[in-house]
Amino acid sequence: MGKPIVAIVGRPNVGKSTLFNIFANSRISIVEDTPGVTRDRLYADTEWLDNEFMMVDTGGIEIMNTDKIAVSIRQQAQIAIAEADVILFVCDARAGITHEDAEVAKMLRQSKKPIVLAINKADSPKQEMEIFEFYNLGIGEPIPVSAANHLGLGDLLDAVVEKFPETSAYGEDGNEDEIKVALIGRPNVGKSSIFNTLVGEERSIVSDVAGTTRDAIDTPVIREGQKFLFIDTAGMRRKARIDEPIEKYSIIRSLRAVDRSDVVLMVIDAIDGITEQDKKIAGYAHEAGKGIVLVVNKWDLYDKDNTSTLRYTENLRRELVFMQYAPVVFVSAMTKQRIHRLPEVIHYVAEQNAMRISTSVLNQVVEDAIAINPPPTEKGQRLKILYATQVKIKPPTFVIFVNEPEIMHFSYQRYLENKLREAFGFEGTPLQMIIRGKN
Ligand code: GDP
Ligand code: GDP
Repeated sequence: MGKPIVAIVGRPNVGKSTLFNIFANSRISIVEDTPGVTRDRLYADTEWLDNEFMMVDTGGIEIMNTDKIAVSIRQQAQIAIAEADVILFVCDARAGITHEDAEVAKMLRQSKKPIVLAINKADSPKQEMEIFEFYNLGIGEPIPVSAANHLGLGDLLDAVVEKFPETSAYGEDGNEDEIKVALIGRPNVGKSSIFNTLVGEERSIVSDVAGTTRDAIDTPVIREGQKFLFIDTAGMRRKARIDEPIEKYSIIRSLRAVDRSDVVLMVIDAIDGITEQDKKIAGYAHEAGKGIVLVVNKWDLYDKDNTSTLRYTENLRRELVFMQYAPVVFVSAMTKQRIHRLPEVIHYVAEQNAMRISTSVLNQVVEDAIAINPPPTEKGQRLKILYATQVKIKPPTFVIFVNEPEIMHFSYQRYLENKLREAFGFEGTPLQMIIRGKN
């Protein structure tokens, strides 16, 4: 089922983003932050006591076009209730319980979701007494924290982790040779149309597969002997039953689908182009190391000449600078143009994402790269690259041993990555590089 999701909910100014940023940075990340999506990220992979989870700041999710704070908090709470595994409700020790806090608390109580109540801005022990009043919210024990002074955060994370569902629920679902696919994109870009075209006539065959006991809303499909599992994302089905704002802003659900997938199909409306929200989700897929295909849909509506695909692709590359490796496919779910190519592309990208390079071949490529363009000196020292080895697939992850990790410059790392891509392809997959010192 992917990692558990913890959603932070609360009024503006209680300290949600301050808390979120602390948690987001607490993990020693081996992944380079993704330019263009880190400024105001609203999700963060977090780890506490060997529990990995995803933290989402609902305060950062844009809700409708309302400027009524009360309305947007309620909607954020609704999203959290619908999508999260644990809700972290944040109040302000100095402000006490406000009317809005009480309203949100009521919604959360009725949801029966696991809730952790954090009372922030408890900067000094003197504020202990102020904490007690928060029992009145009726959602359990208030945990005093101070994001500013880094107090109580361990206790808070303990309480969060304790509320996670049984870990077995998050085990790898499905079998190894099955490619899990998430269709991601804003409402109306054509996800369900593509999905239906892809799986349509396959349904009956698929339901005969023995032993497919799984979440009924994911759809298994077999194409030319290859098994695919299409992960249900918001908007693909059951439209009528989902509340409007949640349906519209189903970013959490999309992130969860990305998390569970091997390959992400990022669907873009040819006419509307890519949006900020698309970039955020693409950034998440990149950092999560997923295979990715950019699917430009409604190509039938686009006013084309013979350089259109080229120019459109260049434009996408400019928007998604961190994702130069993603193949772009121009399709029309309506005319079915090139939709039949998608399974092949998905398969290809999944293979690239799971590719293993032998150590000897890898080191040959690295040596050649160094010979053409030796590492620069920095602070009077020359970087020496000693040895490289691939330690992981999905995504391909390389450890590069060097004399002095601190002088490995980002641009040189980028150069090496490009050389690996030249040699091995790795189309549609991010790569990870871990730079290590000798010992
Ligand atoms: P958000 O709107 O809920 O995301 O709140 P912010 O994280 O933006 O914080 C609102 C304000 O409260 C900022 O000025 C923070 O510096 C301040 N703040 C956050 N945490 C604490 C805390 O633990 N103690 C104090 N005194 N101020 C805090
Ligand atoms: P979703 O919300 O992303 O699942 O989008 P839908 O699949 O429901 O499609 C939204 C609208 O776009 C529907 O009216 C579709 O008929 C239309 N649509 C989807 N794909 C295409 C396409 O390739 N070309 C054209 N012209 N319309 C499309």
